[in-house]
Amino acid sequence: GGSGGIGESICLEMAKQGAIVIINYNSNKQSALEIAQKIGNIGFKSEIYKADVSDLDQVIEMVNSVYKKFGKIDILVNCAGITRDNLLMRMSEKQWDDVITTNLNGVFNTSKATVRYMIKQRYGRIINISSIVGIYGNPGQTNYAAAKAGIIGFTKALAKEVGSRQITVNSIAPGFIKTKMTEFLADKTSLIEERIALRRLGKPEDVANLAVFLASEEAGYITGQVIAVDGGLAL
Ligand code: NAD
Repeated sequence: GGSGGIGESICLEMAKQGAIVIINYNSNKQSALEIAQKIGNIGFKSEIYKADVSDLDQVIEMVNSVYKKFGKIDILVNCAGITRDNLLMRMSEKQWDDVITTNLNGVFNTSKATVRYMIKQRYGRIINISSIVGIYGNPGQTNYAAAKAGIIGFTKALAKEVGSRQITVNSIAPGFIKTKMTEFLADKTSLIEERIALRRLGKPEDVANLAVFLASEEAGYITGQVIAVDGGLAL
């Protein structure tokens, strides 16, 4: 999900900390190229890789070639996500499947492909982008809420599985962040802001800053957690 709004910010902030960033994209190559360009412009390294996260074979191919080239994978950020909103009464099986397959199976696929290398290294950081919708629910988003809640359970279970290898697994639950995904809410901004303690929508960097911290050495004793970045929306 590196080519999206929050993903771009995470890629940039990780690069600024010295990480060699692999920017995964599925359909939006142009956006991935632009992010790689931005990272290059400030003197850091990145590469772009095409893979549909919902397809395990494609993910395994991407992860294996990254490992082969760089000899290690320290950090995995699962940020790919889509919405197909509808009330349950009107939700098609395809809308359900598309969201579960991308948002939840995607996390399974990338984690499964990567964790074996992290276990070998006896080090790793996995950061899964969930949503406060996965904690509190939201009408019209049963598919999305189920996937995002699933990510939280997955995070906790995997944290227990791999903790002894010094691999941490955490979830970030963003509130309303200004990206393409929330563009359709633009005319409701002031109504939403009234419900947020900090009275503003989040910026992608608000999420990226936490991702960078969770990826750092200093966050080495934090695992299995879900941390909201929502400006106090869900208080
Ligand atoms: P975005 O639409 O800008 O980015 C989503 C990215 O996921 C895009 O780059 C898209 O190409 C990629 N993607 C989708 N399907 C993919 C697939 N099959 N394979 C590979 N990549 C795929 O949206 P965003 O707001 O940046 O969202 C990033 C993450 O944050 C998502 O998981 C989203 O659910 C989550 N989130 C966003 C908000 C918000 O308010 N924007 C709130 C909570 C959680």
